[in-house]
Amino acid sequence: MKNKLIRGIPASPGIVIGKAIRYVSENSKIQSTSDKGKIKIDEVKKFESALNMVRHELELIRKDFLARTDEYHARILDAELLVLDDETLMQNTINRIKKGNSAEESFKWVAEKALSEFKNIKDKYIQERVDDIRDVVERVLRDLKGQPQNLLLHKKEHILIATNLLPSDTATLDKSIVVGFATDLGGETSHTSIMARALKIPAVVGLNEITKLIKSGEEIIIDGNHGIIIIDPDERTRRAYEKRIYEFQEYEKELLSLATLPCKTLDGHAIELACNIEIQEELDMALDYGTSGVGLMRTEFLYLQKPLKEEKQFKIYDKFARKVYPHSLIVRTLDIGGDKLIDIGINNISTTEPKDMNPFLGWRGIRFSLDRRDIFIAQLKAILRANKKGNVKLLFPMIDGIHEIREAKKCVEKAKAQLDKEGKTYRKNIEIGVMIEIPSAAIIAEAIAREVDFLSIGSNDLTQYTLACDRGNMKVKEYYNPFHPAVLTLIKRTIDAAHKERKWVGCCGEIGNHPLAIPILVGLGIDELSVAPLYLLEVKKIIRALSMEEASIIANEVLSIDTEDEVKKYIKKIKNKIPVIREVMKKYEE
Ligand code: PEP
Ligand code: MG
Repeated sequence: MKNKLIRGIPASPGIVIGKAIRYVSENSKIQSTSDKGKIKIDEVKKFESALNMVRHELELIRKDFLARTDEYHARILDAELLVLDDETLMQNTINRIKKGNSAEESFKWVAEKALSEFKNIKDKYIQERVDDIRDVVERVLRDLKGQPQNLLLHKKEHILIATNLLPSDTATLDKSIVVGFATDLGGETSHTSIMARALKIPAVVGLNEITKLIKSGEEIIIDGNHGIIIIDPDERTRRAYEKRIYEFQEYEKELLSLATLPCKTLDGHAIELACNIEIQEELDMALDYGTSGVGLMRTEFLYLQKPLKEEKQFKIYDKFARKVYPHSLIVRTLDIGGDKLIDIGINNISTTEPKDMNPFLGWRGIRFSLDRRDIFIAQLKAILRANKKGNVKLLFPMIDGIHEIREAKKCVEKAKAQLDKEGKTYRKNIEIGVMIEIPSAAIIAEAIAREVDFLSIGSNDLTQYTLACDRGNMKVKEYYNPFHPAVLTLIKRTIDAAHKERKWVGCCGEIGNHPLAIPILVGLGIDELSVAPLYLLEVKKIIRALSMEEASIIANEVLSIDTEDEVKKYIKKIKNKIPVIREVMKKYEE
């Protein structure tokens, strides 16, 4: 059947058309040993030699990947090297071999058992980090079976179709040969996806059975923007996609021409346009797009396997701060809990604790940091040290009132005292801001603004907490509405409170990149918008087409509406009033 369209998860943007090559993992064919009972010295040796080989290969891949990307991404491979140091995994395998099983059989059995224990943990991060273990397991099994490790046996340009690409396989992809890839498994934040974005290879993942539907040599289209693949396109579809590739390139060129232009309304009102980032690839993209700084650096990524030591964290913040200078780098301290890293068991942080019944209302963000001051102070020291040029700022998540701010500030002082004692250099002054993402904080925003240097509205959480609606629960998706009059009222209240206390206020939640929300936020007087790098130029395009006068009228009108339905109707009309918004929104319609 021509034109078979399959939807997956957009992992890395861009559109490509090319010939598919299937790569299917064969680790199920395991050699078994019939000679049970005999101690298998040779098999133990074989296993140990496979481990050494895999370690050596991963070190080489890391070196090569580091040369092609950066230390930040190369660290992903450290996670895999750590798996090779897992004594329980290795010793249990040797014990099984000694019972008379083959090295392959033993290792597969022990590894599958360990992986199945992770299966029951319903956490996106954990599930995606399981890939690191699978990667190592697959590599060791390939070695034990004498299979080649390198995927790139094909020399011609092609699109790779695989069950799942191991992060270490992705690291070795040659962009001039593999122009795109699609996989059965994987998620947006899996290491494979992160690496694809770092290498700028269009990719769609999480396609379920794509390896069963595509034959090698078949033509396919990968649309990494929308997470779509089309198998065997007919001439018309092919031409339509060639046109899209052209239009996408032209649209990108047009947007890129905005990168160096100021972010000002038609009547000259300037808005700081910063970015939300987690990893360096995002910062690089944002800098190319002319960001005026980092409005939110999420740091949860640094705690995936175990909390990074102060020194390593310092190196990362320092590198980011230098890259973004003279603009600001706002580092948010660890926001563990809620949907992030729950149950991960990093360094026994949370597995030793009883499970939260309502994790979003539980041990999250600043609450965790204030209880685990050892971890918190190490992070604060690293951030303080990175503020060499005075462009680093601190941001605390999940603040519900004044008490937490004062406690967090005491920790900053403690971190400074430790740095003094250790003779490490840092600046005494650092600006401190808090996230306004709990309704209580928005309600007393004036008092909070007196305690800090700036406020940053976290509309993602502010919406879920105001409306008592889990932001990740698809069953209540309809209730999650950042345009609800109550949410808009709290946003207005926060902006007014900050200004009354002569403090600046930004918004780093997703509402900031919603084309229909931009006139409202600008009209309410927001000083800064911080958005994902991908949206920077579109947001700037909209701001540059607005006048402050027009935006204030829109904000006043929308804030005077009491019902959700009428707000909905009203914001639809914004699209017709402002042609640029209509144009940007068209891009999201397939
Ligand atoms: C928010 O809550 O709006 C926010 C920016 O923080 P996060 O999405 O990381 O919770
Ligand atoms: Mg939040």
